Amino acid sequence: MGEESARTMEAVDMSGETCLAGQEGFDLSTEPQALEEVRVSVRRLVEFILRHGDIDNRRHISPDNAMQEGGRVHRMIQRRMGAEYQAEVPLKMTFPADGYMLSVEGRADGIIHKDGKVTIDEIKGTYRDIARLLAPLPLHVAQAKCYAYLYGAPQGLERICVRLTYCHMPSGEIRYFHEEYGFDSLEEWFRGLLAAYRKWSDYSWRWRGIRGDSIRGLEFPFPYREGQRELAAHVYRTIYHKKKLFLEAPTGVGKTISTVYPAVQAMGQGMGEKLFYLTAKTITRTVAEETMDILRGRGLRLKSVILTAKEKICFMEETECNPDFCLAFSPVIHLD
Ligand code: SF4
Repeated sequence: MGEESARTMEAVDMSGETCLAGQEGFDLSTEPQALEEVRVSVRRLVEFILRHGDIDNRRHISPDNAMQEGGRVHRMIQRRMGAEYQAEVPLKMTFPADGYMLSVEGRADGIIHKDGKVTIDEIKGTYRDIARLLAPLPLHVAQAKCYAYLYGAPQGLERICVRLTYCHMPSGEIRYFHEEYGFDSLEEWFRGLLAAYRKWSDYSWRWRGIRGDSIRGLEFPFPYREGQRELAAHVYRTIYHKKKLFLEAPTGVGKTISTVYPAVQAMGQGMGEKLFYLTAKTITRTVAEETMDILRGRGLRLKSVILTAKEKICFMEETECNPDFCLAFSPVIHLD
């Protein structure tokens, strides 16, 4: 929400298009599907199950443009490969789950068909010294193995290779790691990974049902003030049409509830899984928290979490997150 400087409330659809649907309210839902599809990317799947790490800032920190650089390195390596290299191959498999279908999908950086062998190539740009890399990182291997499974299972392959291609981004130096898998062991591994993820996806599926039921019965919690209904409807239509809405309105209009309520309604109708409410000041954050509490008091079942800058919650005078500096987490030694 922007600064509250304008004297009148003004809602602007920046796309320049007129939103036609749902002029009177929020009834824009489509027919529900018999068995809904829950999608998870390969990256999220492996990161959810296998990710680990810490906030120690002595580890090498990537520059701000690391993502763009990573994309550039990917394209550079892919262009250099021969005719047997197929780049950016979309892969997807769907598995029946408890009341829904779980789709695992992603895009392999490259698939190589050579000498009767199939190799899945996973490219990683890095700022680490790759000469000192003894083995590929387990998370990267897991990602490549998932692509290997998604590609090899429908083809009935008996064996498949995986190649991790590390590129040192500043120098362009490249290092490869290869591994070959029998499909039976790969399948066993993948099924294990999926079973571990299912514990979470089953839980979140059930919770989604509870949340959806609570949203369906949720009324706007106050009598509408002047212009508030139109504002809420405009927010909803903006989400429905996947547009952007820039809004400027003075204090007292009720912007928080007028934006949160339609966003929650849209979430209940499958138009989003997470709602991010960003605030520049603590006071506006508090209003958002109170708004969620009001809606919960009216029956909404929704989990929310408040993210705060670590500088604000740090126990130390300076936020230097490493064991050499931070005394907050140093072990306390009792000498008596
Ligand atoms: S207490 Fe402060 S410096 Fe220490 S780990 Fe936490 S945020 Fe970092």
